[in-house]
Amino acid sequence: MTYGDWALLQDRRGRSYLFRLQEGGSFNYHRGSLSHQAIVQAGPGARIATPQGEPFTIHRPTLEDYVLHMPREATPTYPKDAATICFLLDLTPGMQVLEAGSGSGGLTLYLARAVGPTGQVWSYETRPKHQARARRNLSDFEDWGNVTWLEADLSQAELPPNAFDGVALDLMEPWTVLAAVTPALKPDRFLACYLPNLTQVVALLEYLRAHPLPYLHERTLEVLHREWDVRPPIAHPKFQQVGHTAFLVQLRRVGGV
Ligand code: SAM
Repeated sequence: MTYGDWALLQDRRGRSYLFRLQEGGSFNYHRGSLSHQAIVQAGPGARIATPQGEPFTIHRPTLEDYVLHMPREATPTYPKDAATICFLLDLTPGMQVLEAGSGSGGLTLYLARAVGPTGQVWSYETRPKHQARARRNLSDFEDWGNVTWLEADLSQAELPPNAFDGVALDLMEPWTVLAAVTPALKPDRFLACYLPNLTQVVALLEYLRAHPLPYLHERTLEVLHREWDVRPPIAHPKFQQVGHTAFLVQLRRVGGV
């Protein structure tokens, strides 16, 4: 861990603070400060305390930590859902994935990690400010040069046929891009949609019923993480939970175009 790296400090209540280590910098808390130099010297995994005795642990942020704390223009795909989208798309290193919209780059980071340096993510976004944020968030955290940024409307894109191993859509109206992306998805591969509202799921499935697009609706699911407070004799679900984030719809391309 050195200057320029991200650091995450966790307080005794489990609250976390993400920042970049700078020469001469300090982390200021209401019960004392910690110099970045002391944090660099202690290193990740160490315990440290402010002069007033407030304890922290020092960590390298995980991808989840980073996506939850990074600056945003659009709401990022929640990490539990982004990880599940990688699983629903059955991604492996070296694959080619198409994504829209880039938003703040949360899902892009997960897709880029799943396909690795030998793969490629093609990320479409209509709003320049959003794509600039996504690019910055990626390059600030983990950048293997495996993302191609396209400032364009995916519904208007002319894509090469059978080029992508997966398509991930975090859009209000994903059905508007299906005509453009379907021929570009390889047969027997997956398209996943992240949809906060059930009305969007219904609209998507009705669109598929009304249009002759070659998809199997594999499943619609929610990813529920129920955290527990386990400090015997206390052991019950935490009173505050992340409630609903979104529905995930998994489609599989079949047949001809
Ligand atoms: N998944 C992103 C993340 O993790 O940060 C967030 C995506 S945000 C909810 C949706 C984005 O899609 C917005 O930035 C919006 O501008 C963009 N968008 C909407 N329609 C689009 C289209 N047809 N083509 C490309 N981008 C589009």
